[in-house]
Amino acid sequence: MSDAEQIYPLGLKVAGRLVVVVGGGPVAARRARSLVEAGARVRVVAPHAALAEFGIPVAAEVAEPTDGPGPAEVEWVRRDYRSGDLDGAWLVHTATGSAPVDRQVSDDAERARIFCVTAGDASVGTAWVPAVARTPLTDGGEVTVAVTAGRDPRRAQAIRDAVAAQLQSGALPLRRHRPRPTTSADEPGTHVEPPERLGRVWLVGGGPGDPGLITARGRSLLAQADVVIVDRLGPRALLGELSPDVEVIDVGKTSGNHPVPQHEINALLIQHAQAGRDVVRLKGGDPYVLGRGGEELAVCRAAGIEVEVVPGVTSAVSVPAAVGIPVTHRGVARGFSVLTGHDGAAEVPGGPDHTLVLLMGVTRLAEAAEALATADRPADTPAAVVEDGYGERQRVTVGTLANIAERAAAAGVRPPAVIVVGDVVRLSPAWRHQAR
Ligand code: SAH
Repeated sequence: MSDAEQIYPLGLKVAGRLVVVVGGGPVAARRARSLVEAGARVRVVAPHAALAEFGIPVAAEVAEPTDGPGPAEVEWVRRDYRSGDLDGAWLVHTATGSAPVDRQVSDDAERARIFCVTAGDASVGTAWVPAVARTPLTDGGEVTVAVTAGRDPRRAQAIRDAVAAQLQSGALPLRRHRPRPTTSADEPGTHVEPPERLGRVWLVGGGPGDPGLITARGRSLLAQADVVIVDRLGPRALLGELSPDVEVIDVGKTSGNHPVPQHEINALLIQHAQAGRDVVRLKGGDPYVLGRGGEELAVCRAAGIEVEVVPGVTSAVSVPAAVGIPVTHRGVARGFSVLTGHDGAAEVPGGPDHTLVLLMGVTRLAEAAEALATADRPADTPAAVVEDGYGERQRVTVGTLANIAERAAAAGVRPPAVIVVGDVVRLSPAWRHQAR
């Protein structure tokens, strides 16, 4: 049997307990620091120690061990190691750089039945320090990942880093598994205990639809939610990765179809949070860009529910980019405005060098194009309609304010689509292929 197979992994509560670190080099100092952070009483034994360089405050410098330092404090016994220095310890780390000294510490520890980590030669000690990553959770807890990989600590670190990255990105199931609180909706007429705490709400911008275009924080929150309330637009593919007991509520709005009205969405957010569930409201693009994020934020606050807005990649910028249209470009456009295609667009300032981005504009494209053609923005200003950015139906139709409505109609353009008006449209490959 190899050493690795004989290891018995364990988490230690060292707070308030004496741990001895023998040695004063960087390895010893790093160990001392993690032990202080974990609340241990730490005794460092070494003639020279780089404690200050590692930001470790030393409470006392002594010639002989005392009754021991206080919790989260370091006592520095400033001399070479002697048998007896381990008295009262629960755990020992030795990293002296000298094999005979490390062996002596390890032998003393063995006799005193104290577990001993030996930095130089793992086969000498009786305990190993794993590579560790800590991921804080929304419910105040944390997930601790500890990896050992035989005698190859670098391999352990590499694996730890990979797992940590996955945890942070939300690719792994971070969701808590405590039982869900009951609500009156589950069993009408029964007595219901109030939840131990209110749930919280995150208004998460999901980006334009591609699962890679949500933020890492958004993805991580999604992996921790009890309830996900989702729009039609946004990264719906991610819903398939949720565990089966996550409740997914689709309030998708399709133009023409019956969407869930906004006041009912608001009520859902509050109802689930009040029942103690953590809710992710997964929205398309960015919550604050024509997304009613402000209203949802306000109703949650008014109901006394903690709520956070997590920004997203707005379709106003990303969907044009998907077909090679930058909303600003040096020498072509210095700024851009985002508007809805529903409202009268006549008062928008600027000429072809100020890019206009219209959301929700397909059905009234003809009206909008006509209104947008002004003295400053002539009818030959380039325009593009980008359908289903990052989706299977992604397509761009280009023209000018004078003919874009006609071209879009001929192409059978359908929502969702982003309309771009301005000289930046000329930068799209589609302009070269279609325009003339
Ligand atoms: N908050 C969202 C916008 C909501 S309004 C954001 O920041 O992106 C909905 C409009 O966004 C749609 O009518 C369409 O104009 C646009 N839209 C969103 N995702 C889109 C996509 N993948 N492709 C094309 N248009 C999209």
